[in-house]
Amino acid sequence: MRDILPVNGVFEMMQLPAEMEHVGVVSAMTLSFHHGKHLKAYVDNLNKLLPGSGLENLPISEVIKRSTGGLFNNAGQVLNHVMYFEQFGSKNHEPQGKIKEMIERDFQSVENFKKEFEQKGATLFGSGWVWLSANADGHLVITQEVNANNPVVNGLVPLLTFDVWEHAYYLDYQNRRADYLSALWQIVDWQVVESRL
Ligand code: MN
Repeated sequence: MRDILPVNGVFEMMQLPAEMEHVGVVSAMTLSFHHGKHLKAYVDNLNKLLPGSGLENLPISEVIKRSTGGLFNNAGQVLNHVMYFEQFGSKNHEPQGKIKEMIERDFQSVENFKKEFEQKGATLFGSGWVWLSANADGHLVITQEVNANNPVVNGLVPLLTFDVWEHAYYLDYQNRRADYLSALWQIVDWQVVESRL
C-alpha cells in the first residue's frame, strides 16, 4: 500500500521523476501543467484545509477515509496523482513475477487485463480514475472511481491508476481518451506497481 505521511503536519509536493520528461507519451507541456499546476493546487488546498480538521498528522489514506467535501477532494487528488506520476518510468514495462501471475489468474492474460482496464477508463463518464487494486482476499479488481475518489475508501489496496480527467490528456490527445489510455502502457513501471501490494 502506497501511503503518504505529513511532515510536521504538512504534506509536501512530490518531485516529478526525472525520467518522466523523456517519456513522450504525454508531452512536457501536459506534464508541466498536470504536475506543476493541478497537483500543486491540490497539495496547497489540502494543507490549508487540514489545520483544525482533527485529522492533522494522519497518513493521507486515513484523511481520505475520515473526511468529506473539500478536504476529501484535495486529499484524494493528492494520493491519486502521487500514485499516477510515481508509477511511470523508463523500465519494467511488462509485468513480471508475482504481479504477472496474479493478473493471469484473475484476468486470464495480461492482454485481456489491459483491454478491460482501457475499456473501464474509456467508459467512465465525466472526470475520474480507473484503478487496479487488490481486495481483502488478495484478488485483483478493476474499478472506476469518480472525481477524487480512491479505492482505499472501499477497503481495497490501490496498485495502478490511469487519470481520465481531461487535464491529463486534452493538450495531447484532445477527445481521444482511448488513444491516451492505450499509450500509457508504454511507460508503466510494473516494479513500482508490484511494490504497492
Ligand atoms: Mn490529474
